[in-house]
Amino acid sequence: MKRSDVAGSLCLDFVNTVDPRHASPREEHLPDYPALLDWARHAGVVTPAEASRLAAAARSRQAAAARAHEDAIALREALYAIFAAVARGEAPPAGSLRRLNDEVARRPREIVGFAWKPAAGDDALDGVLGPIVWSTAELLTSGPLERVRECPGDDTCGWLFLDTSRNGSRRWCDMRTCGNRAKARRFYRRSVGASQFPVCRPVISDGRAGNPHVLKSAPQAVPQSRAASTRP
Ligand SMILES: [Zn+2]
Repeated sequence: MKRSDVAGSLCLDFVNTVDPRHASPREEHLPDYPALLDWARHAGVVTPAEASRLAAAARSRQAAAARAHEDAIALREALYAIFAAVARGEAPPAGSLRRLNDEVARRPREIVGFAWKPAAGDDALDGVLGPIVWSTAELLTSGPLERVRECPGDDTCGWLFLDTSRNGSRRWCDMRTCGNRAKARRFYRRSVGASQFPVCRPVISDGRAGNPHVLKSAPQAVPQSRAASTRP
């Protein structure tokens, strides 16, 4: 299964399909069923051939495709509520757990070629959610739950990830985005701190001493598109 996203877990990567989570406007990576299918193919949930078959089916069953997309977004929000609570060391909301249990019950699976597959006959458009539900169930029952983190980047990011660093000190969802922005802010604060003791004070044209410390606004870290850095 291909993994080019940052969370280290299929279900958490699925939760991270909105960017950022805690601010608006936010970029919705799954605006419709075809986008969900693209994500599933990219994540290795379906093969390219399965994705093509489902895309064709969705074109002829648009109402079912719209329902599958609505279910996907509702599942994603339930999973966020569960894992964000886990990351904070709190009990997950009962309603979100209930939704997850309903999904588990709706999606029987069997082992085919040493991999989990939907039980025979499951060719529904929302079948792409099965592996996400199973990934969630496995993470919740087998862990490592103590390694689930929520990224604090810019106080808005909210992406979830599994911290697999040896000492459990990973803070950011991705060093290329949130990590770099935090580094740029630290550098800026150090620079401003160093300028508290200027060598000389500039004199402006009317003869008054200018204030070298006044900054109109903090320089912004160059925003790097997360879509560009973490998407294929
Ligand atoms: Zn982040």
